[in-house]
Amino acid sequence: MEKIKMTTPLVEMDGDEMTRILWQIIKEELLLPFIDLKTEYYDLGLKKRDETRDQITVDAANATKKYGVAVKCATITPNAARMTEYDLHEMWKSPNGTIRAILDGTVFRAPIIVKGIQPGVSKWKSPITIARHAYGDVYKNAEMRIPAAGTVKLVYTPADGSAPQEVVVHEFKGPGVVQGQHNLDASITSFAKSCFEYALDLKQDLWFATKDTISKKYDHQFKDIFQEIYEAEYKERFAEAGITYFYTLIDDAVARVMKNEGGFIWACKNYDGDVMSDMISSAFGSLAMMTSVLVSPHGYYEYEAAHGTVQRHYYKHLEGEETSTNSVATIFAWSGALRKRGEMDGNADLMAFADKLEKATIATIEGGKMTKDLAMITTMEDPTVLNSRDFIVAIREELEKM
Ligand code: NAP
Ligand code: MG
Repeated sequence: MEKIKMTTPLVEMDGDEMTRILWQIIKEELLLPFIDLKTEYYDLGLKKRDETRDQITVDAANATKKYGVAVKCATITPNAARMTEYDLHEMWKSPNGTIRAILDGTVFRAPIIVKGIQPGVSKWKSPITIARHAYGDVYKNAEMRIPAAGTVKLVYTPADGSAPQEVVVHEFKGPGVVQGQHNLDASITSFAKSCFEYALDLKQDLWFATKDTISKKYDHQFKDIFQEIYEAEYKERFAEAGITYFYTLIDDAVARVMKNEGGFIWACKNYDGDVMSDMISSAFGSLAMMTSVLVSPHGYYEYEAAHGTVQRHYYKHLEGEETSTNSVATIFAWSGALRKRGEMDGNADLMAFADKLEKATIATIEGGKMTKDLAMITTMEDPTVLNSRDFIVAIREELEKM
């Protein structure tokens, strides 16, 4: 069989621990036998990040700007324990944070649905994709303990020297707490654009919700920016694509999500997205079945699994024990990136291969072969539990049948 040719490279970002092991097996078994794989390789494993003083992460993000599409393996975000474990020069920042800051994107997370792994909500038939605004609000707040009676104000001092504006937050009669939050029109705008673009990409409806009835300036600004951009740039394109933009209050959105069949994108403010993405992933079955894609408003895409490096399994692996780690989300990161590469390059064979790879993965599980995490939650009787490698080999067998 002739291998599928690629014209433009993918940016390949390797990672850490158990997912790094899976990465290698996926390439050996599912990609290299079928594709003349062209990638520009960046090793974002913690050792290499430390050696390069994290320059490699910046280089990988810049390469994504150059080529448009990247696929990333899960990586360690260092903490105190990792400082000793890897003898690090510095507690390097989260690579995902660094990459997101350079590409200025929004992260979309969607569950992978297979028969036999039933969503906790029986109404749900299709994936619900969560888009989380990844800037500001409570994550960049300023807060204070108020020890005793006194007044707290918000004060804005214009840089041009004009008169300050202020508003009283609260006249405290006794102890309490206070918090100041902010966001930026530019960040909200790029969030909105990424969401509208991705909805067109997937041909799915876009929902957005805030609490604008209570927060008449802050949340209302989000609502207004989304609406302005929609009217000015997307209304016609949405109509042509046969999809809708739907705005409602956050509590109404939550109630409707539970009664809906799914198959739409739900844009969330930062905190709502943090909370709702965990609800969606556990309700659809498993974090190991969630894909994640960073979409920049400039049209760059970075695909990855939503889970981490599965450290506990890696330590078992190092001790020579067998592991049964789920590679589905990592495989879908590759298929997502290959499909997008194919779309950008007009490479129909590559797009068809991405579809096949996903079908083979799903068929393997639906045929009763799966990793331990899925075997524990499936409604199928007597599933075959495979180890990390054998599960990927079983997918290869499906792929070869197609
Ligand atoms: P994790 O790697 O997602 O794993 C947490 C637990 O979830 C695992 O111990 C395992 O449960 C289960 N799990 C996750 N993925 C699985 C898979 N593919 N197959 C089977 N089970 C899976 O999260 P963590 O342990 O909190 O973090 C480990 C490292 O990953 C940290 O250094 C963190 O910084 C990093 N991280 C990276 C990213 C990223 O690069 N995007 C995201 C999150 C975390 P059992 O042990 O019960 O089997
Ligand atoms: Mg969370």
